[in-house]
Formats: sequence, C-alpha cells, structure tokens
Amino acid sequence: MAVHGIDLGTTNSVIARTGSDGRPEILTGMSGEPITPSVVLFASPGEHVVGEGARREALIDPDHVCDLVKRRMGDADWRFVAHGKAWSAPAVSALILRSLVADAGFATGQPPTSAVITVPAYFGDEERRATVLAGAYAQLDVVDVLSEPIAAALAYGFGRLDGLVNLGKSGRGDGAGVVETVLVYDLGGGTFDATVIELADRRISVLAVEGDHQLGGADWDQRIELHLSREFCAANPAAEDPMDDGIGRQVLRSAAERAKHQLSDVLSTEVVVAHDGVTTTVRLTRAALEEMTGPLLRRTIDLTRDCLAEARRRGVEHVDRVLLVGGSSRMPAVARALHREFGYEAELHDPDLAVAKGAALYGEKKELERMVAADLRTRGRLRDGEPLSDASGDDLDTACRRVADAFGVTLTQVRRAIDITVDTVVSRGFGVLAIDAGATRLETSWLVHRNDRLPIRTSRSYGTVRTDQEVIAITVVEQQGQVESSRVEDAKILTVGEITGIPPGYSAGSEIQVTFTMGFDGVLHVTAYHVDAGIPLALTVTTGATLSQAEVARERDQLGRTRRRP
Ligand code: ADP
Ligand code: MG
Repeated sequence: MAVHGIDLGTTNSVIARTGSDGRPEILTGMSGEPITPSVVLFASPGEHVVGEGARREALIDPDHVCDLVKRRMGDADWRFVAHGKAWSAPAVSALILRSLVADAGFATGQPPTSAVITVPAYFGDEERRATVLAGAYAQLDVVDVLSEPIAAALAYGFGRLDGLVNLGKSGRGDGAGVVETVLVYDLGGGTFDATVIELADRRISVLAVEGDHQLGGADWDQRIELHLSREFCAANPAAEDPMDDGIGRQVLRSAAERAKHQLSDVLSTEVVVAHDGVTTTVRLTRAALEEMTGPLLRRTIDLTRDCLAEARRRGVEHVDRVLLVGGSSRMPAVARALHREFGYEAELHDPDLAVAKGAALYGEKKELERMVAADLRTRGRLRDGEPLSDASGDDLDTACRRVADAFGVTLTQVRRAIDITVDTVVSRGFGVLAIDAGATRLETSWLVHRNDRLPIRTSRSYGTVRTDQEVIAITVVEQQGQVESSRVEDAKILTVGEITGIPPGYSAGSEIQVTFTMGFDGVLHVTAYHVDAGIPLALTVTTGATLSQAEVARERDQLGRTRRRP
C-alpha cells in the first residue's frame, strides 16, 4: 500500500507498510536494521547523518548531535543550532522522516509519498501540528496522525483477528461479539502513555488516556549516569567529574544505557568509567538500579492508576489484557509493579515495532477507504463530501470488490479495513477566555474536556460586554495540567482572533456563538459568530507550535541544502 506507517519516536523510529497479504512489514534501509535511532548529526553545513551513525558520533562530537527532539515538538521557540544554522523541532524531525523515506525506498524501490505518523496519546494540538509540519517538510502527505497506543492496539487486534478461533476464550462475549478491554502501558525513551482501549469486533475505542511526555528511559539513564559519576568521583577525588565534560558525559550516558539494558537480563553488571586519565570499575546491581529509579517507575504506576480510574468512570470494570510496549517496558520492574499494584499479568507485545505496524495498518485502511469512496463517486453512487457509511450495502460491496481486483488484494482485506472504526478521545481540554457571570474577572470557559470522545463539535454562546462593541477578541486556550482550572494563568494560550467591523446598534449581551470542532487527528478548528450582526470569524490555531510562513519558507530552503550521508 502506498500509505506507509511511521513511528516517529523520541528515541527510535520505524517505518512499515502492509504487504500484499495485508500483513504489516517493517522496511529497512541498507543497514538492514529495523530501528533507526531518532538522532541527527549535523556533520557540516551541507551534510547530516541520521540514526546509528549519528548516535555513535554523539560520543565524540556532542555539540552537533541532536537527540530527543520529539520532546521539543510544539515548542515554537526551541532551536537546535549547528554550523550557524538554526533548526526547529519539525525541521530536525523532517530529517529523520526523510531518512526513513529513503530506507523505505531502498526496500521497496518506491519511496513513499504519504504516511500515517504516530504521536503519543498525550500530545496536544500544537505537538500534532508540529508533527504534520515535519511531514510536510519531508515532502510527505500526512494522511493522519494516530495515537501510538491505538496503533499498538491495532497491531495487537490484527494479530487477534488472525487467531479468530481463540477469541471466545478470552474477553467478554455478549452474543453480539467479543469485547476485550486492553490497557496499553507504553514506556519509551522519552515519553510515557497509559491508555485504556476497548477492542470490539470492528470497533476500537479509546476510553481513557494518561501520560507524561517528559518521562521515559532517558530519565532512567540520567539517574544511572549520576550514580556512576558519584562513584567515579568518590574513587578518584583528584580527577575531574565526567559530568563536567561534554564528551565525558556522553560516554557516561551511553555506558549507563548499556548497563540498564544488561540489567533487564542479568542481576548484576560492571561498568568501566574511564575519564581524566583514570579508570574505575563500578558494580551495579538490578536491585540498586530499581532503588535509584523507584520514583520514576512509581510515577508511571500513579498515572496508570489515574487512567484506570477514568476508564472506570466510563464503565470499565475489568481489564482483560495488559500490553507492554516501548523499549523501557522490557525492564522487569515494570511488569512486576503492574502485578503488585493491580494484579495484572502484563505481556510484552512486540515492544519496538508494534506502533509502526499499527500505523501501517491504519494507513492501509485510509488508503482503501479513499479508493472505495473514489470508486463510488466516479460511478455516481456517493456524493462529494458524503461519508462511506452513506453508501448502500450493495454499492459498497461492488466497490470493495472492484478495489480488491484492481489492486490485487483480497476482498476480505478491503472489507475488514473499511469496517474497522477507531474511536478516540481528546487528551486535553480546550476553551476560550471569558468574563465570568459576575463580570468581575477573566476566566477560562472549557468547551472541550479531556477524555471527550472524538470527533467533537461543540458550541457555546457568550454575550458581548458593551453596547456598540466593535471588536470581539476570542482567545483560544489549551489545558495545561491534569485538571481543568478556571484560572487564566493555568491555561496555555493557543491563539487570539478578532471579530471586527461590527456596526453599532447592538446592545451589551449580544450573542456570540463559539464552535470548536476537532477530528480524529486531534487538530482544533475554531469558528465564532456574531449572531445578530451575522459576522463570522474562522480561526486557525496558528500560534505556538506553528512557525510563521517566513520561518517555514526559510526552513524548507535550509532542508533543501543538506544532504544525508549514508
Ligand atoms: P521511543 O518510543 O521513545 O522512541 P522506544 O520504545 O524505542 O522509545 O524505547 C527506547 C527506550 O527503551 C530507551 O530508553 C532504551 O534505553 C530503552 N530500552 C530498550 N531496550 C531495553 C532493555 N532491554 N531494558 C531496558 N530498557 C530498554
Ligand atoms: Mg514509542
């Protein structure tokens, strides 16, 4: 299928597509490695390296190596500066995407032009937009941004479909089909997401999301790194602290990560720290590692508990399955804590590749849907703008069969892709600033609430403050913390728009209707309307993550001037 699936991870990225048999397959470049570290080395003003090579280089040239860029997505002010050029987070991400595209082209002979890119469920509007921009920079048509846990669940659900006969044995059956409630615990390198998902026969619904996108394996590495530096300094009081030196620090970090990986398999390991002409061997046990990183793991458990509580409010009494994804969920302490706290038997589910595979499945679904709709439209069986569900059963059957024949896929494949629906929820609240009823102070009025089900279309009416008010400013905000707060300073301002040119003659309290719509991609659209004057306002949320047109043009140009060194 032409629409590829991309897991653009904080630490590692993966590209996949579905094969002719409908199964997702991972595409690899010349190295044959399925995983590309999300690391970029700016080797010279016109040359960069992506992946393992850049990661290795980080040890000797840390100043020109950019990693964990995903943590910066949505931060419009952040730049990585190398060789006198400034790179925004979407621009750095575009270099990673371009590398994946080249690898996919190497594998299939045809570089992809469109993709579904995954993002953490907890990503807000700005981060999602930044991801779409990264895709555009890489000349990819981003068909959709998909939440990573949904992708993981899709990959799992696909495997489950393959084993249909086993279905009856697990989950709840109510005659109409088996419903399985799944908790996806995703601990990657830089982000943590807990999501409760319901997998029904043809429907995947997200019931609750929780997460922290500043929490992941890298934090574990930091704790270990600190420990190694302390031990080294204690043993060599006269030597320089490796943490005080750029290269020393990188070397320490990579040793820390290696030790962490080993301790997922063995109970004890030795780390050699060589710095400033002296060498010390530090012995590290799994128990010590778990002790020094206990608070980090506890935070994931607390967030998981919140997520489960939210799911319970939505009627989930029982979790049937716990899927562990993300490389860090390989740490034995994770499954143990989930068992101890909740009694779950968690299982590792293709922790490195499930997200990309799910994205590929979703990409295939989008592609097939588009083709079936196009077929119906050209034959006049579906009007422009009408959803597929409006087509008659017979028409749909015929169209599916034609698409299956034309593209050499099976009819079942087409039907299955089209029938599966994905329901999801919004990860943060959105609202506008308004003066409270007592007309005393400005406060946030929430139109969209966290965990509301997507797609959303919601309207609310407000009154003008003065008679003959000529201009009405609409300030759109996004929720910052875990809970909705009416305090203005707790919200993040996304954009400000104005309804202008309102003629005189309207009294105070004239109705202003504000409408928020958000599709499955989680991107917000705002319209406002002065009802009596009949003046509309359409707002695109452009501040924050989204760079100015001039900046986008500059970056495009800059991206055109750097070549990937293989
Ligand atoms: P992301 O989704 O953030 O790109 P991944 O899911 O690829 O990240 O996970 C990367 C993280 O997983 C890194 O922090 C890495 O150190 C960690 N990791 C990978 N394998 C192991 C292991 N065997 N034990 C512990 N941590 C691991
Ligand atoms: Mg990931």
